Amino acid sequence: MTTNENDKVSRRRFLTQASLAGAGALLGSAGTGLLGTAYASEGPASVAPGQNIRSRGYAAFDNSGVLRPWEFERRPLGDDDVLIEIKYASICHSDIHQMKGDWGPQRYPQIPGHEIVGVVTAVGKNVTRFQVGDRAGVGCMVDSCLECDSCTHGEEQFCEKGGTLFTYGYPDRRSPTGITQGGYSTNIVVRDHFAVHIPDHLSFQEAAPLLCAGITTYSPIMQATLQVGDKVGVAGIGGLGHMAVMLAASKGAEVYAFTTSPGKAQDILSLGAKEVVVVDDLSKLRPHRARLDYMISTIPTQYDVAAYSSVVRPYGHFTQVGMPDAFRLTVNNLGLAVSRVNFNASLIGGIPETQEVIHYCADNGIRPRIEVIDAAGINDAWAKVVNKQARYRYVIDAATF
Ligand SMILES: [Zn+2]
Ligand SMILES: [Zn+2]
Repeated sequence: MTTNENDKVSRRRFLTQASLAGAGALLGSAGTGLLGTAYASEGPASVAPGQNIRSRGYAAFDNSGVLRPWEFERRPLGDDDVLIEIKYASICHSDIHQMKGDWGPQRYPQIPGHEIVGVVTAVGKNVTRFQVGDRAGVGCMVDSCLECDSCTHGEEQFCEKGGTLFTYGYPDRRSPTGITQGGYSTNIVVRDHFAVHIPDHLSFQEAAPLLCAGITTYSPIMQATLQVGDKVGVAGIGGLGHMAVMLAASKGAEVYAFTTSPGKAQDILSLGAKEVVVVDDLSKLRPHRARLDYMISTIPTQYDVAAYSSVVRPYGHFTQVGMPDAFRLTVNNLGLAVSRVNFNASLIGGIPETQEVIHYCADNGIRPRIEVIDAAGINDAWAKVVNKQARYRYVIDAATF
């Protein structure tokens, strides 16, 4: 290797590390300064006042991507908290990415899971939105400042004080383990604002995937203000993509699905797509050049963004929601320029909109395609998600933890 190449390699390394550190600053250490004192209350209203709450689940102990049973403790129930006995938690590709360290170094043991549903079993004394016995869900966030412009406008994921606390793996001084612990477990303690109601006409199993896959695709699709007959592309038909197909079709769009798995074609048509394009080679995209008004990509790996965006008409929009390794996408600038697409990326959605997508799906008959598994099947299910064999969301029965 020449000196020049060495320089390049070390610069690349530096940039990668800097970007991970940046992402850590952006997401990881979020709001630790704001937390810790906010909950210094006189004690919870029930469940052994002031006592940590015992929990049990499946955790990662290293970056191997293998989970094992683990018993741990959650913080005591605070005045503004609800305690939820978890009934189901579903598997998101993000769980796998984060536990493997694909997005940066992690603290272990760590319990993944941010598609969580269950029953409220205790409430803090200030809680008015929930009662014991209510059906409730928790998604990708569990806290934020709730005072800044973004938080007061229902966009807690953009908390301007950096207070967005994600559901697992983020520093949280209140947590006995020092980090937030997710939903592959028997219970969760969460600030009431960050729980949503699950209506009776939606099963727990089918509600779970809406808490991340549902809101992550619903939010940008609603932002796109589609007209009936608009041509909408969905790239990557897994957990998120299959929701995007159903949601866009429900808005009257003509949906074009782009998948690398020919075996999914019949399923995808039955979800409401007008056409399925099997992209076993990028040349398959060429005949569709400038055909679409809008495209959402759920592809969670590095891929040729410009090739995919070329199927959107000039001045159309393209939204990236999949999160590749190190959160990085390399874009061919000329490719993007010649299609003159408005490229953006979207991060989940706020709590009011999360409640909205739950009701929207419940009321419009939109249901994720799921397979319920026992906790012992998690590692096998993770392998299938990575190998694109999931059809389309694995939902873990929390009674088996
Ligand atoms: Zn997710
Ligand atoms: Zn805020």
